[in-house]
Amino acid sequence: MKIDPHTHTNHSDGTDSPAELMRNARSAGLDIIGLTDHDGTSGWDEAAAEVPECGVGLLRGMEMSCVREGITVHLLSYLHDPDDADLIEACRKTIDSRENRAQAMVTRLSKDFPITWENVLRFAPDEGPIGRPHIADALVASGAFENRGACFEYVLHPSSKYYVRHWSPDPVEATEMIRAAGGVPVIAHPRARKRQKLLPLEVIEEMIEAGLAGVEVFHRDHSPEDRDFMLKWAKDRDMLITGSSDYHGDGKPNRLGENTTPFEVIQEIEAQGKLDLIMP
Ligand code: AMP
Ligand code: FE
Ligand code: FE
Ligand code: ZN
Repeated sequence: MKIDPHTHTNHSDGTDSPAELMRNARSAGLDIIGLTDHDGTSGWDEAAAEVPECGVGLLRGMEMSCVREGITVHLLSYLHDPDDADLIEACRKTIDSRENRAQAMVTRLSKDFPITWENVLRFAPDEGPIGRPHIADALVASGAFENRGACFEYVLHPSSKYYVRHWSPDPVEATEMIRAAGGVPVIAHPRARKRQKLLPLEVIEEMIEAGLAGVEVFHRDHSPEDRDFMLKWAKDRDMLITGSSDYHGDGKPNRLGENTTPFEVIQEIEAQGKLDLIMP
């Protein structure tokens, strides 16, 4: 079984539609794919409708934005109740704050680059979260930069003068909220150092106390040293261990199936989750 449990569509900052994602999953030889758009589940139904046709199983998930002391934490939630009021409210507040934040970043950028809010909106999802990747798309379309990666390196990084923070729930509260909604919380790419200051391990310990189920260890943003360190750290704490591509379509070089998760781990996630896998 080849399983890639963390990917994005154009319902957040990926570029495939959910149906395209499912077809690309089949082409990549995946047996099961996890759809984990940022801060929402609006892509689930379209992806689920493709399961019988494309023959790839679907693990329904979401990547929740959280913040602790200015450090962003990405928390995967698997198989939670998509109608849970507290989770929906937390995601709505994040999406609202992201919109204000993106407008503030565009105001700053517009002093030095040919960028407008209208152009950013052309690349953003209708209802989903607006992120820096959509600002990057507008900058690339204007010819200012080659691709999203260059935008992040030069103007979108947290250390840049154009960067503005957004509100999101604390990762410990979010872990509790996900469990209360019947979901299975797994921390995404905890050692992705290039993005920002590293999250202290003590915070992940707190999240374990709050119900964290697993740690995403195998991810291209982890160095071999960090991967080995995190593998041992997570094993010592009886965490489920996952690996994924974090595929974003054309928005990133990440390819479907470049990291995977064993079926036994997915079965344990299913056992703990409120919903089931959708299999062909
Ligand atoms: P934001 O959600 O606004 O904080 O932006 C973070 C998102 O940007 C992440 O979810 C990634 O998908 C994306 N991202 C981060 N670094 C890069 C990069 N170097 N190239 C392309 N996308 C990136
Ligand atoms: Fe993303
Ligand atoms: Fe992430
Ligand atoms: Zn992701």
